[in-house]
Amino acid sequence: RVAYVNGTYRPHGDATVHVEDRGFQFADGVYEVWSIFDGRLADFDAHMTRLHRSLNELRIPIPMTREALTQVLKETVRRNRVRDGIVYLQVTRGTARRDHPFPAEGTPPSVVVTAKSIPQAKAEATAAKGVAVVTQPDIRWGRCDIKTVGLLPNVLAKQAARERGAYEAWMVDEMGLVTEGSSTNAWIVDENGKLRTRDTQANILRGCTRAAILELIKEEGVEFEERAFSVDEAKRAKEAFFTAAGAWVMPAVSIDGVKIGNGKPGPITKKLRELYLDQARRDAI
Ligand code: PLP
Repeated sequence: RVAYVNGTYRPHGDATVHVEDRGFQFADGVYEVWSIFDGRLADFDAHMTRLHRSLNELRIPIPMTREALTQVLKETVRRNRVRDGIVYLQVTRGTARRDHPFPAEGTPPSVVVTAKSIPQAKAEATAAKGVAVVTQPDIRWGRCDIKTVGLLPNVLAKQAARERGAYEAWMVDEMGLVTEGSSTNAWIVDENGKLRTRDTQANILRGCTRAAILELIKEEGVEFEERAFSVDEAKRAKEAFFTAAGAWVMPAVSIDGVKIGNGKPGPITKKLRELYLDQARRDAI
């Protein structure tokens, strides 16, 4: 395996950044993850656009042209011989003597790219059964719309889920409303049969998979509302699922141990997973 680090491809085992990289010291950086289907990147433009938005919001310089970056992403996938899996990109504010304010102008951002294979059969087997979700208080900062590498609350939430035998944690605000998953967007088919996910005016990440599904349901004519739901509503829902690059559309069959619907992935969830995968595979570049 190889990783791209600041201009060179290195064996994965010695791919390192400096101890004074601001990503390491301050989590002063952003990232993106693309799904790879048959060696090609899915939802390419949406992730690239969000990367640029994240960089702009934090005033991290754009490290290289979009064309050059596209080339690096594809080359990393190729060199790792990934057919199906994910590619990870991280850009930090670069390396400088530790000090909170931004480093001197001209300090180059650090760029790291890795890729890994994820067997499709395993993902399909997990999705066929569905997974357990637990809820956790959302203790994150006020700019969750920026995809920063500052993920400690998400790490703690996911670990709490694993320790309770669950696959994902859904984070909950002070009103008892679900914000999103620790690394996914949360959805339900409510007790009236309406598909719901939280609006992006709230403090959540604007998921690229979420956006792709919103486009698909317009064509399908599914009844939908972009409105937050409570944990209680989720527990009474007919179906529940979550979305992200790498997880795509993953059925949630229990929430805090309460069975959702009949405890099996629901028909709308399964349909959306199929539609999303068809579209993502077709449009991958
Ligand atoms: N919400 C959070 C907190 C995430 O970390 C992610 C993905 O990493 C998502 C949602 C889903 O976003 P996307 O569909 O763009 O992968």
